[in-house]
Amino acid sequence: MTFKNLIILLFSLFNLCSIFGFQNNIKPNYIIIFVDDMGYGDIGVFGNPTISTPNLDKMAYEGQKWTQFYSAASVCTPSRAALLTGRLPVRSGMASSKNPVLFPNSLNGLPQSEFTLAEKLKERDYKTAIVGKWHLGHKKKYLPLNHGFDYYYGIPYSNDMDKINKNNYWSEYERKTLNSNSYNVPLMENYEIIERPVDQTTITSRYVDKTIKLINNYKDDSFFIYLSHNLPHIPLYASKEFSGNSKRGLYGDVIEEIDHGVGLILKELKNLKIDKKTIVVFTSDNGPWLVYKSHSGSAGLLRNGKGTTWEGGVRVPTIFWGSNIKPGVINDIGSTLDIYTTFLSLSNIKLQNDMIIDGLDLSKTLFHKKKSPREQMFFYKGDELFAVRLNNLKLHFRTTDWFKKPVSHNPPLLFDLDKDPSEKYDIYQKNKDKIKEILKLVEKHNKKMIRGENQLINRL
Ligand code: MG
Repeated sequence: MTFKNLIILLFSLFNLCSIFGFQNNIKPNYIIIFVDDMGYGDIGVFGNPTISTPNLDKMAYEGQKWTQFYSAASVCTPSRAALLTGRLPVRSGMASSKNPVLFPNSLNGLPQSEFTLAEKLKERDYKTAIVGKWHLGHKKKYLPLNHGFDYYYGIPYSNDMDKINKNNYWSEYERKTLNSNSYNVPLMENYEIIERPVDQTTITSRYVDKTIKLINNYKDDSFFIYLSHNLPHIPLYASKEFSGNSKRGLYGDVIEEIDHGVGLILKELKNLKIDKKTIVVFTSDNGPWLVYKSHSGSAGLLRNGKGTTWEGGVRVPTIFWGSNIKPGVINDIGSTLDIYTTFLSLSNIKLQNDMIIDGLDLSKTLFHKKKSPREQMFFYKGDELFAVRLNNLKLHFRTTDWFKKPVSHNPPLLFDLDKDPSEKYDIYQKNKDKIKEILKLVEKHNKKMIRGENQLINRL
C-alpha cells in the first residue's frame, strides 16, 4: 500500500467513526431509564407547572429533548417487548386484546426466538444488566438472565400485582389503609426472590443505588444498563426524604425522587469521566393512567392517556443525553422501537436479517440533527391496528377510553398533529385525497404483517 493510499484509508475510517460521533470508540455505553406510566406533561421541561425536575430539565438542555416520541404500545408488557426487540409487539405475540399485559398467573413471556437488545450487545461482549421492572415473563425461562442480561435486580412485573385483597385502590388510599404490605410483590436478584413483600417506599432509591454500583463495576468495559423504574405506576410510594415535598402531592413526590436519581446517575458518569462514551435515554412506557385521579400523571396538552391510542396514551416525554449528542429540541417523530436499531448501529452490530425490525436508526439526528428517518407510526391497541400516523397526519379507525368498549369510525377520524396536537378537530372531510396515501400504507403494512403466536395467556 502506498503512503497516499494509507492516508486515504485512515481518513475514511476517521470519517466513518465521526459520522456516529465516536472518534475513538465505537462501543458506547448505554443506559435506558424507563419509567412506568409517566405522562407527557409530568416533567418541568415538558411543561409541568408544579413538579420540580431540575435534573431532567438539565438533562434536556445538555442533550436532546424529543417532542414527538412514541412508545410502541399504550400498556406495560407490549411496550417493553417493543423497546427490547425493536419490533411491534404483535410480531412477538406480546400484545393481546384479551389480556393486555402479563399477570402473576400468566403462563408465558417473551419468546426465545426474539433477540433482545441485551442479547445482541453480547455479540460484542457488552456487560448487561436490568434493574427494576421486567414484565416480560416471571417464569424462569423468560427472566432477564435468559434474555441476554448478566444481572437482574427488581420486581418482575407491576407493583400493583399480588394485591392481598380486592379492595379498590383509591378508596383504600383515602381510608389510609394502604401500606407497603398491601401488595405481595417480590423483589428478585437474578433467579431468586430476596424480599417479599418488597418495601416499595425505598424501591426507587434502591434501584438508583444499584445502578450506580453497576456503572462502577462495569466502567472499564462497555455496558448496557436498563433501569426500569416500577413507579410512578400506582400504588405510589416515595421515600421519607421525598414525601410531602412536592406541590403536586404524592405523585409529584414520586417524580421528584425519580428526577433526583437521574441527577445522581448523570453526575456519576461525569465523575467517572465516561459521560462522553455513554448515551443515556430517559422515556416512559406509556401515558398516564388517568383513572387514578391525582395519583395519575398528566399527558399535558395531549388527549387521553394509558390504554388508548390517542396521543396521551402513546406519546412519551423523551430525552437523549451524553456522548456527542447535539443539544437541542427535536420536533421530528421517533419511537422507543428506534432505540434498539440506533444502539445496535452505533455499536456496529448487524440486525437479524431474517426478522422484520420496525426500529429505525436515529443516530444522524442525535449527532448531526439531521431529519429523523421516521415518518410513520402504527398504533395498536392489543393486537388490533387502531390508528396510523404519516408525517403530520394521524388517522384513527377505532378509538377507546381506558378499557371501555372501542368505537369504530367510518369514515375514520383525521387529525393534523402539527397544528392540532390535542386531536380536537377532525379534518377528514377536507382531506379525502390525503387519506388514500395513508390507506395504501396501511394495506402494505397489513399484507406484510406476520403475527407471533399470542403469549399473553393466563392459567385458568
Ligand atoms: Mg406502564
